[in-house]
Amino acid sequence: MAKRDYYEVLGVPKDADATTIKKAYRKLALKYHPDRNPGDKETEEKFKEAAEAYEVLSDADKKARYDRFGHAGMSGAPGGGFSGEGMTMDDIFQQFGDIFGDSTFGSFFGGAGGARAGGRTRARGQKGSNLRIRVALTLEEIANGVTKKIKVKKQNTCDVCDGSGAKDSNSVKTCSTCGGSGFVRQVRSTFLGQMQTTSTCPTCNGAGQQVTANCPKCKGDGRIHGEETLEIDIPAGVEEGMQLSLRGKGNAGLRGGPAGDLMISIEEKLHSDLQRDGQNVIYELYLNFADAALGTSVEVPTLGGKVKIKVPSGTQSGKIFRLKDKGLPVVQGYGRGDQLIHVNVWTPKKTNTREKELLEELRDMPNFQPQPGKSEKTFFEKMRDYFK
Ligand SMILES: [Zn+2]
Ligand SMILES: [Zn+2]
Repeated sequence: MAKRDYYEVLGVPKDADATTIKKAYRKLALKYHPDRNPGDKETEEKFKEAAEAYEVLSDADKKARYDRFGHAGMSGAPGGGFSGEGMTMDDIFQQFGDIFGDSTFGSFFGGAGGARAGGRTRARGQKGSNLRIRVALTLEEIANGVTKKIKVKKQNTCDVCDGSGAKDSNSVKTCSTCGGSGFVRQVRSTFLGQMQTTSTCPTCNGAGQQVTANCPKCKGDGRIHGEETLEIDIPAGVEEGMQLSLRGKGNAGLRGGPAGDLMISIEEKLHSDLQRDGQNVIYELYLNFADAALGTSVEVPTLGGKVKIKVPSGTQSGKIFRLKDKGLPVVQGYGRGDQLIHVNVWTPKKTNTREKELLEELRDMPNFQPQPGKSEKTFFEKMRDYFK
């Protein structure tokens, strides 16, 4: 659908002055007000269309640009700050709510307008603070991702007043400073035209209403100290020191304001057998001297349980076996690291008489003489092969 001309939308001539434009908008806004037409999508669209037109035509600078370039001047213009398109109903009330507070029309929407202001309060009061917790995870939990249930001490929304901080519905009144919008606007006339600034109402802190009698449980704060058991989904592959944040899971806001965030620091618990190295895990395998020489099969722990591996005859100390994809995944990425099995051939630290006899016999045997020929890679070469 082609965009309608803003003057046509408001039904005013091109040379209409600010007062005429404001009057025309107020008339339309009242006609299409959602409180008068609940659930009617068509009037809601008309309401938004009028707000968009008014946002431009009520601003001297935007109006001048629109007069010159039409709709094309409104999108992507440098420093345009044009937000009319895609404005939500809440945005419209936030920006133009005061148009309903005008003395001429105040009584018209006294009740409904007040209720709406109350409804918006929760999104605009002072935000709650962020909550920080540490979560310690095993490597197994990190390998697969985990949902942790954690009890945290935090400020919760007061259940008696539902966050409003008021004793009851009679102890709330629309803020007299801002007329319930939560914002105060100042219009200054400069040689460039009218400059408008909007700031949070200092009287009600943006809530749009004032409490005349406090809720006895929370003493007017709208929140109380308590505990909450949070379920936290932790993605696979996280690392020590990583920070995750969950929006809106922190402390409740003051008098119905939005909650803060929950910041989670990841800690890694030491594993009894495995060591993490980025996405890989390392296992130190100790082999008996005879097993290394003759070959054997051994069970090694992995993050997914025990796995049997074959150790070929003649395995040297320092050899690295790789179990592909038995490591850790990349957070929100693809692929997995490997498990590296680092072989250590165990040299007996003490020997009994019989052992000594056998070893003495072996000592001079030809195959027991070290022959580190070309086939023996140095540790450095093995590592280099690994990361090729
Ligand atoms: Zn309360
Ligand atoms: Zn106020």
